Amino acid sequence: MESVRDYANYIGGAWLPPQRGETTVSINPANRNEIVGRIPLSTREDLEKAVTAANEARAAWRKLSGAGRGAFLYKAADVLERRLDEVGRTMTREMGKTLAEAKGETARGVAILRYYAGEGMRKIGDVIPASDADAFMFTTRVPLGVVGAITPWNFPIAIPIWKIAPALIYGNTVVWKPASEAAVTAALVMECFHEAGLPEGVLNLVIGGGKEIGQGLAEHPGVQGITFTGSNAVGKSVGQAAFARGAKYQLEMGGKNPIIVAADADLELAAEAAISGGFKSTGQKCTATSRVIVVQDVYEAFRDKLLEKTASIRVGNGLSETTWLGPCASEKQYETVLGYIKSGKEEGAKLLLGGTPPEDEELRDGFYITPAIFEDVDSRMSIAQEEIFGPVLALIKAADLPEAIQLANDVPFGLSASLYTKDIASALSFVQEMDAGLVRINAETAGVELQAPFGGMKDSSSHSREQGQAAIEFFTSIKTVFMKP
Ligand code: NAP
Repeated sequence: MESVRDYANYIGGAWLPPQRGETTVSINPANRNEIVGRIPLSTREDLEKAVTAANEARAAWRKLSGAGRGAFLYKAADVLERRLDEVGRTMTREMGKTLAEAKGETARGVAILRYYAGEGMRKIGDVIPASDADAFMFTTRVPLGVVGAITPWNFPIAIPIWKIAPALIYGNTVVWKPASEAAVTAALVMECFHEAGLPEGVLNLVIGGGKEIGQGLAEHPGVQGITFTGSNAVGKSVGQAAFARGAKYQLEMGGKNPIIVAADADLELAAEAAISGGFKSTGQKCTATSRVIVVQDVYEAFRDKLLEKTASIRVGNGLSETTWLGPCASEKQYETVLGYIKSGKEEGAKLLLGGTPPEDEELRDGFYITPAIFEDVDSRMSIAQEEIFGPVLALIKAADLPEAIQLANDVPFGLSASLYTKDIASALSFVQEMDAGLVRINAETAGVELQAPFGGMKDSSSHSREQGQAAIEFFTSIKTVFMKP
């Protein structure tokens, strides 16, 4: 039997076990008997050390030029690219997504690092005409200081890197608290930064529970900015703690993303988009399609296509090349999804397909659920209102496009929304009326390109944006300079 590796925190440029020596294990959701690694259960003492290290590293890091900081990101990208296969496999073993998705996400991490390495060379301010002709007025941007990054398990590489890379390039130092269920993958990412020679204290990794380390970061007076991605309930408490002490914060949270199928839609493409958006990553994406709102003229034809395609999806271990849909990432997630399937049935929706553990004996030790499709879903039901974060689609019938848009908006979230149509007027009215940060026409609800702003409206976000050049708004403060001879 393979021995279980111990992972450590990374603080002030050194790998350190938790000071009190407590650990836990990260397990493989495809087989609950397999331990992926032993990970620290850090305490506030470890966090204190990391915040101190990040504060000590601030002045020297900030003094480097943008290009100088970017050179480290380019190196980290090269290391991550070299280790792509190993990192991708670890991600699949630790949180279950298929190897193709895990490697794709790792490649995305490499691309994000290179993108922000280049951003270090871009202008960061404006010259503004002063009313006094002798005066010179301009803006520049300064780093926040120490940024605390709290990240989820569902994109354990792309999300941390799209926080860490802009934080670093704009001159901040970072304390990173990854999700416990993806802590081994996080440690491998940290190894890449270490191998890239990042100066000590610039990026620190503290592995531990949400209440202990996540909340500790949000409350810590030595942390000037908090960037959080995760659930709505936790996000709001993180935001409140940061706000209470005057720290800047950014919250990216859940979604209940709709795809609307208009009467003139290409039904083949729309069905593929609903499946890909709803079931890829086992539905565990903040941008996952969760509601499929179909205009009644094409409802039956669309539903039959959707069912036929879904029935052929192969569920299995993400490491196998034939697998299309892996397990839920954890037992907690598995139980939550089964709970929603039960409540959907109890509330009167009709389960057309799936929603059960597969019968295959080989899969009995994993957290697998076959892709589920409900119909007769009323907009008030919990499966139509709450984020499930699993392979479950709710089919909702609408009389026409205006009603479909009204139903699409009738949830607390507003992250991503799609419309399938061939009509430009329908597309434009959807763009205008849909309350979502990401509005997509003839494209699935999934994420956006790394150079474009990403974020939501309503309960999906605190309204700031990640990715692309939009990231500078959170990770810096503007300074307005007025000079006279
Ligand atoms: P979560 O339970 O909210 O956890 C997110 C992070 O917060 C983890 O690192 C977690 O640590 C930590 N945490 C837990 N309790 C905390 C507390 N009291 N104070 C501070 N931090 C705490 O979310 P998740 O289950 O990992 O991720 C799924 C959620 O993320 C979904 O709602 C999904 O929609 C959302 N998400 C949003 C986006 C987006 O960009 N909008 C992207 C991806 C995911 P532990 O792991 O140790 O508990």
